Amino acid sequence: MNFNDPTTWIDYDKDQQVSYRANILKSLIPSDVRTILDVGCGSGVVTNKLAADYDVNAMDISEAALERVECPKLCASITSIPFGDKSFDLVNCNEVLEHLNDEDLDRGASELLRTANRYILISVPHREQLNRYHCRCAKCGSVSHPYGHLQSFTEERLGSLFSKCFHLKRRLIYGPLHRDMPLLLLNYRQQVLNQWFSPQKGYLCPQCQSAIFESAQNLQTKLINGLNRLLTKPRPYWLIALFVRKG
Ligand SMILES: [Zn+2]
Repeated sequence: MNFNDPTTWIDYDKDQQVSYRANILKSLIPSDVRTILDVGCGSGVVTNKLAADYDVNAMDISEAALERVECPKLCASITSIPFGDKSFDLVNCNEVLEHLNDEDLDRGASELLRTANRYILISVPHREQLNRYHCRCAKCGSVSHPYGHLQSFTEERLGSLFSKCFHLKRRLIYGPLHRDMPLLLLNYRQQVLNQWFSPQKGYLCPQCQSAIFESAQNLQTKLINGLNRLLTKPRPYWLIALFVRKG
């Protein structure tokens, strides 16, 4: 995803999944919350809904995304949040942590811990099998994750980021259903049969900017995918967790 490209945000919620998630997030916000900081707010699909009922500040690294946000906003990174300690009742951070490298994840989590007075509300893909979503450029052969995800979270791993001074209060696993694929099958399908994940329209290879990706379809790939439907169970995509400050 190119976050600085305005076209990224035009149809960002075309299947209404983000709006659906916004309603679930709102239902988890405790009744004593008045002020919210939305970190990595994107184009504000969630933020603008929150701003109807709360005093919300929003931030994102993309100026293009922020143009659609309808509350006080600024361009900033989760790794250096320009607000003081415990500035907000709740700090909200959705679909951000999975995009960070290890170093930025540690710094970002510290910043959420620092700026949240009482609560931290997080959503991330749950136990994402990252290589399941890898696509391979047909021109240069480079492999990339079309959503730019670098991290995969179990409930325990997510909790460990905040356990120093917050504990888990509520968690939900929900969202569109998807399947993992056993590594042996996945490797065979990708490396031998050359069927990779098909990225969303508009995604370009980060190496060479080509829009053409490998996705062979034949009897063998159909057999592999059919076998996977027998071997695996679909499961919901997202993990939402509400953390509360200890003591
Ligand atoms: Zn390429």
